[in-house]
Amino acid sequence: MNPYEMACYQLERAGEIAGIEEDIVEYLKYPDRAVEVKIPVKMDDGSLRVFTGYRVQHCGVRGPYKGGIRYHPSVTLDEVKALAMWMTWKCALVNIPFGGGKGGVRVDPKKLSTRELERLTRRYTTALIPFVGPERDIPAPDVYTNEQVMAWIMDTYSNFKGYAVPGIVTGKPVDLGGSFGRTSATGRGVAIITRESAKAIGLELEGASVAIQGFGNVGYWAAKTLHEMGAKIVAVSDSRGGIFDEKGLDPDRVLEHKKKTGSVVGCTDTFLTNEELLELEVDILIPAAVENVINEENVKNVKARMIVEGANGPVSPKAEEHLDNRCELIVPDILANAGGVVVSYFEWVQDLERYFWDLEKVNHELEKILVKAFNELLSIKREYSDIIWRDAAMIAALRRVVDAIKIRGIFP
Ligand code: GLU
Repeated sequence: MNPYEMACYQLERAGEIAGIEEDIVEYLKYPDRAVEVKIPVKMDDGSLRVFTGYRVQHCGVRGPYKGGIRYHPSVTLDEVKALAMWMTWKCALVNIPFGGGKGGVRVDPKKLSTRELERLTRRYTTALIPFVGPERDIPAPDVYTNEQVMAWIMDTYSNFKGYAVPGIVTGKPVDLGGSFGRTSATGRGVAIITRESAKAIGLELEGASVAIQGFGNVGYWAAKTLHEMGAKIVAVSDSRGGIFDEKGLDPDRVLEHKKKTGSVVGCTDTFLTNEELLELEVDILIPAAVENVINEENVKNVKARMIVEGANGPVSPKAEEHLDNRCELIVPDILANAGGVVVSYFEWVQDLERYFWDLEKVNHELEKILVKAFNELLSIKREYSDIIWRDAAMIAALRRVVDAIKIRGIFP
């Protein structure tokens, strides 16, 4: 299954359990709009290269489209369509007034210079100008994009408008109207949801062993926050491989090493591959990199008690079926990593109001929204006995989206 087929499968499955009309489920499989754009870039050596970019707007019935932009060599339209659909469910589940969107550029950003990346970002933004805007579609960071990329997007859009438009994008630097706590939000959210989920299955977080795949923004902040909560981070990894220490790693020391050398590898003597990390005997496994890392092939070797999906779509549906017998719990992405878009919502609100919050307020409001969504998921789970957490999360989200479709009606 490619990610889009996977997203449609999850939708059909939850739609059936929740008794949602088939024609509405069918309607929700298709994005409202999918744009493909050409991104010609003059490279530093004078040559010309052409990249392909996408922006998919899945369902705008509850508000402007919202979702990140990823730069990755394997980006495809089907992947972006799936990620946009997942954003619709994520925003509905935490009940923020956005629809789902996502963008992507097929590029390996590690092979571009900073100037080349800037030109690529500005040209991509220019191509999307008719489709985005603070009331229309608000991008944000995702895999291999960061604050700097968001700043270029904000600047490009603002130049076309003739005045500063901070609300065009979230995840910006604080100096440009970004929000305190946005950078840490996704990982912090992963930690909050991990804490609540552990409580629900009677797992003591203090001293619990945690392995995290991916040490980007999400992985690092999840590690740091869980470490502060008393959990023991025994393994982390990045694209070059991972490290292990059964006594527990200090996430800040690992980050320092990564900043110096470009990888977590070498921070301790024990090297392990990404595959080995996924198969460690730990209490909590957090895949926080890309899709489909736990699949039909390796699922039989996964020994974690609980999996928390820091990434979008890291566990394939086939794997989920098999895992359910052994692993007590898979906490679905649309809940586990929703902290990022929740603080994006706060950032957008602050930009529109031109009134900014302090970090304490951001973190307090984030906690409130996530715990509420978590409890709603638990109550849906009780309502339908014997459903997995992903189905419960999907049902909570679907109910809101379907209600909105029905109240608005189908135009014309
Ligand atoms: N890319 C993040 C996600 O997948 C954040 C999206 C946003 O903040 O709009 O949830």
